Amino acid sequence: MVRVFTGGPVFVGDGSILENVQVHVEEGRISKIVDAGHSKPRNAEVVPLDGCFLLPGLIDCHVHLCMDAGPDPLGTLSSEAAALTAIKAAKFAEKTLMSGVTAVRDMGGRGGVDLVVRDAIRSGRIPGPRIMASAQLICMTGGHGWQVGRQADGPAEVMRAVREQILAGADLVKLMATGGVMTPGVEPGSEQFSQEELRAGILEAHKAGKKTATHAQGTQGIKNALLAGIDSIEHGIYLDDECLELMLKRSVPLIPTMSALFHIERKGLEAGIPEFAVDKTLRVKPFFLESMRMAREAGVSVAMGTDAGTPFNSHGRNLEELLFMVESGFSEEEALLSATGVAAGVLGLQEDMGTIAPGRQADLLLVEGNPLQDIGLLLNQENIRMIIQKGRVVKG
Ligand SMILES: [Zn+2]
Repeated sequence: MVRVFTGGPVFVGDGSILENVQVHVEEGRISKIVDAGHSKPRNAEVVPLDGCFLLPGLIDCHVHLCMDAGPDPLGTLSSEAAALTAIKAAKFAEKTLMSGVTAVRDMGGRGGVDLVVRDAIRSGRIPGPRIMASAQLICMTGGHGWQVGRQADGPAEVMRAVREQILAGADLVKLMATGGVMTPGVEPGSEQFSQEELRAGILEAHKAGKKTATHAQGTQGIKNALLAGIDSIEHGIYLDDECLELMLKRSVPLIPTMSALFHIERKGLEAGIPEFAVDKTLRVKPFFLESMRMAREAGVSVAMGTDAGTPFNSHGRNLEELLFMVESGFSEEEALLSATGVAAGVLGLQEDMGTIAPGRQADLLLVEGNPLQDIGLLLNQENIRMIIQKGRVVKG
């Protein structure tokens, strides 16, 4: 059966907008795009856009499906039964999909839950976005995220830790280059893995054809990761000109995850968020906003990531990040590109998703109103009239 979408603008996801076209979907993929006046196949089911925008399914490059967005998600995760984590993660995955996010990168699981949920979605057992999962994050002993991470010290052990994640089925490898906000007793600005340790881990991942990502907040840690050959910088709180130059030269994208900081700041101590996390958030925020401005002006590629699962940063509210981006100076178009074509590149799936083009998997959203004028309308799920995943209608 051919499904034909026509009668509204198409946000392609590569910077262009198509008007007056038909988008044909067949066997889960976009089969062709032709002029609106073209005759339709006889057996086609026509989906009139009625002026709605057709968008690629959106992509969140940084989530934690194992974390529940409570006041202290790392504390909860490190103490609850893995079976409970799995039940919760499956629910979070469904909520994420129903918000219009059809693919995510999970950036640190526990007990293999992220991998099991990924596979259950892939085989059609449960609804959810396509997941690229890192399995356990890898950190130094006592480093950021140690509560759920694989602690490793020295290049040889980091190499072994990477091999373990790949053996378990990881799609990518996450290495911790600096301290962070959500772990007590570590500093966001401080280096953690050395450049040598990072290089050993990155080489090992690349050997297996896997991309690498790093939690990197402090300036020197960001540089260590870049010089060691990392594929993406997560957070990037203390960027300087040298970091930006390296990112541009090596085409390394930034995934800011503004939602993480903004929700901690807004809810604060009253909501039960640990004091160390609130303190550090308030301390780093001005530097973070300045770094975002510098990255935007330098033309560094920015991809949408939320850090969903951190305090009050709920799964299913992922698209708030787009609003935070626009409020921080990005255009609506830049924000949407960060969650489509650019994000697909971060996942290494640009041939498969992120744009509306022949051959791509048919992950599509039908959006009422013009998100290029008002990005906020994506936050009201009523405006997302239809969600299509691999050509199948999951909403609408
Ligand atoms: Zn994270």
